[in-house]
Parts: sequence; C-alpha cells; structure tokens
Amino acid sequence: MTFSLALTEEQQAARDWAHDFARKEMREKEVEGLPAHRYWDEAEEFPWEIVEKAAEVGLYGMDYYTMAGQDTTGLTTALIIEELFWGCAGIGLAIFGSGLALAGLASAGTGEQIGEWAPRIFGTPDDIKVGAYAVSEPGAGSDVSKIRTRAEKVEGGWLLNGEKIWITNGGIADVHIVVATVNPGMGHRGQASFIVTSDMEGFTQTKKVKKLGIRASHTAELALVDVFVPDDHLLGGEDKLNAKIEAAKNPDQAKKSKSGALSTFEATRPIVGIQAVGIARAAYEQSVTYAMQRETFGVPIIRHQAIAFKLADMATEIDAARLLCWRGINMGVTWTPFKQGEGSMAKLKAGRVAVQVTDEAIQVHGGFGYSREFDVEKFHRDAKIYEIFEGTKEIQQLVISRQIARHFGGEGAKSA
Ligand SMILES: Cc1cc2nc3c(=O)[nH]c(=O)nc-3n(C[C@H](O)[C@H](O)[C@H](O)COP(=O)(O)OP(=O)(O)OC[C@H]3O[C@@H](n4cnc5c(N)ncnc54)[C@H](O)[C@@H]3O)c2cc1C
Repeated sequence: MTFSLALTEEQQAARDWAHDFARKEMREKEVEGLPAHRYWDEAEEFPWEIVEKAAEVGLYGMDYYTMAGQDTTGLTTALIIEELFWGCAGIGLAIFGSGLALAGLASAGTGEQIGEWAPRIFGTPDDIKVGAYAVSEPGAGSDVSKIRTRAEKVEGGWLLNGEKIWITNGGIADVHIVVATVNPGMGHRGQASFIVTSDMEGFTQTKKVKKLGIRASHTAELALVDVFVPDDHLLGGEDKLNAKIEAAKNPDQAKKSKSGALSTFEATRPIVGIQAVGIARAAYEQSVTYAMQRETFGVPIIRHQAIAFKLADMATEIDAARLLCWRGINMGVTWTPFKQGEGSMAKLKAGRVAVQVTDEAIQVHGGFGYSREFDVEKFHRDAKIYEIFEGTKEIQQLVISRQIARHFGGEGAKSA
C-alpha cells in the first residue's frame, strides 16, 4: 500500500485552472466599479453571469462527475473547490450549491430517477439551471425528525403541504428535492424525499433571506400549498418507502440499521469543509502580505512575534483542516464507511479554523481589517456559516461522540 500526498501533474493543472478562474472572474473582474466578489456581496444577488461562465469552462456541475466516479481519489474535486472558495465563498456556493440537491437525489433516488433528474438539476451550458435541497423548517433544523411538511397519498401521486426555511437556491432552482413526512409519529423513518419543480402549482418562494455572509448565494423560504407531485417523483418509489416504514416498526431491525454506517451526508461534509479551508487560506494570504508591508515602531509588523505567531498558527491550522477534509473526501469517493464520524470531524475542524483564522486576519489588519476597504471583514462574515449549515458544529460533535460511544461500547453507547 502506498501513501503519498504529492499532487500529480493533472491535479496541479486542475488546481491552477480553478485558481485562475477564481482570480480573474471573482477577484479581478470589475462590476460597476467594484471587484466582482465585493459587488455580488453588496448586491446580495445570485451571480448568474459567473455561474454561466463557470459552466462554459466546465467548472459547473463538477459534482456530477465526482459522483459518477470520474475523480477516483476525490483530490481533484477538493483542490478545485478550495480555489473557487478562495475567490469568493458566496459565488463559490452559487456554483456548488446545486450539489446538495444532487446529494439528496443520489441518496434516495432509484438509478432511473438519478439518470433523469441529475442533468436537469444543472441544465446545460446554454441554459443553466440550479437545484435546491429543502429539509429545514422553522421548527426543524438540527432536529429533522420534527419536519411538519406533510405528504398525503392521493390518486396518481401525493399532495404536499408545509413550509421550508433557509433553502439555498430555494425558489430560483428548477428542481427542488423536498423532504416531507408521510407517516407522522415515525420521525426520520416516516419521511420521504420528493422532486418538486418550480412550475408546480401551489409552490412559491415566500421570502428571500438577507444574510451576514455568503450573500451572493441565494437563500429563501418556501411554501407548499396542496402541491400535487406525481408518483414517479417520490424518490426511491413507494415499495421502498413502505419497506422502510415496515422495517422501522420492527425494533430489532430499526436498531440494527441505526448502528450501521453513518448517512451518505457524512460524505458531503468534508466537501463543505474544504470550502471553509478556501476562505481561511484567502484570509491568511492577505494577512501575510499586509504584515510584511505595514510598519509599526520602525519594523514591519511581521517582525513582532505576536503577529508572526498568529500567522504560524493560521498556516498550521489551515493545513490540519485541509488534511482532514482530503481524508473525508477520499473516504466518500471510495465508499469507505465513516465509522468514526470522519466527515463530521473534517467539517467541524474546517469551520472552526475558518472562523478563527478570519478573526485573527482582522486583528492582523488592525482598524483597516474592520473596514470594507479590505477583504478580511468579508471573509469573516462568509466563514461563520460553516459552523451552522450542513449540521452545526455542535451536531458534528454529537455525531463524532456517538461514534466514540459505539466504538467503546457499554453504557455510553446506549445513552449517546
Ligand atoms: C445560509 C444558510 C443556508 C442554508 N441552506 C440550507 C439548505 O439548502 N437546505 C436546508 O434544508 N437547510 C439549509 N440551512 C439550514 C441549516 O441546515 C440549519 O440552520 C441548521 O441545521 C441549524 O438548524 P437551526 O437553524 O434550526 O438551529 P437549531 O437546530 O435550532 O439549533 C440552535 C442551536 O442549538 C444547538 N443544538 C441543537 N440541538 C442540539 C443538540 N442535540 N446538542 C447540542 N446542541 C444542539 C445548535 O447547534 C445551535 O447552536 C441553511 C441555513 C443557512 C443559515
């Protein structure tokens, strides 16, 4: 067995290609007198033109190829995502947010459904579409067993009623994967995912959410009022749903499936983590440049040990976070079971590192760091979401600690 973290020529080329795109299209290109990343942040609008450009060069819908097994180690995907989020996390999420819908489709859909709907999530380079994955509700964020959106069986399909909140690409997406309760009282096991397209009657975006950071990414609230969804839009099909519900009624079976490998979403967490690494690295690089230029007491501030040590800690923490994300992404693409919550570990670490590094980056910049003249205040605003979405940092800790309890067995395993 070999072990190497050396990048191949192809991987280096992919990284450089993504970096050039991020530098030119997000950092250098100006829109109405502002660098694109600052413009879209201030405008709080979805940057369709950059997503179209990304599609033109082949950077949009890349998750599809990763899922199809074309990136055998996952490293190329990791490198590309880090570079794009180095450019701008909001725009990066506009490019990669549809991947969540793809993950939702892939985790529950039949092969036929995946084949039909995956391309429709992304559209074509001439006619770009985005996708959304709608789980969260006003009363169900971390605790998804509390989802109140109901799906009721009717002739030829299902009627969906409920509301969704915080949905990335919600309302602007063509394809929404909506999680609903079909059998109240059974928690997760009574839930199913449905394909809801934006043209369905009764389906509306009720509010666009204004946010602290990642402002180029669209976030919305959605309402579903008697939305009719045909039978073939139930992911996995009715037989599979009935089998799941029957199995859940049998306590032994339910216990067995609960103690199995963690959910497929454990595999998407390191991909989200590497996005945070991109933000942290951008903040670190600008901090190094600034610390070499800014002088106080007759020397560049990098010569003050207090500042130099901050930079040393930033570099160390970013590398640590990146390595955890690379491991997690590799486990995901090689279908290695996440027995210790390795996906959650990667996201927990990367989210924390992004928040801490961007905070210290503001400190290194002093008062200038607090102004919009420099990017570090934006990096800090963008970083915070990585401790909240795709499972808060506390939920990541919960996932990891449950695996620890299972691993060591005994009483702890029962209570965790
Ligand atoms: C910008 C943005 C984009 C988003 N995109 C999507 C999307 O595309 N699709 C989607 O479905 N959702 C999306 N979300 C929702 C996101 O996943 C939830 O906000 C997140 O899961 C937290 O849920 P909550 O906000 O209800 O917080 P709560 O679950 O109410 O948590 C509040 C606090 O309590 C803590 N907490 C809760 N339970 C526990 C526990 N058992 N132990 C310890 N601490 C606990 C949490 O960690 C948190 O600190 C998005 C959110 C945002 C802000």
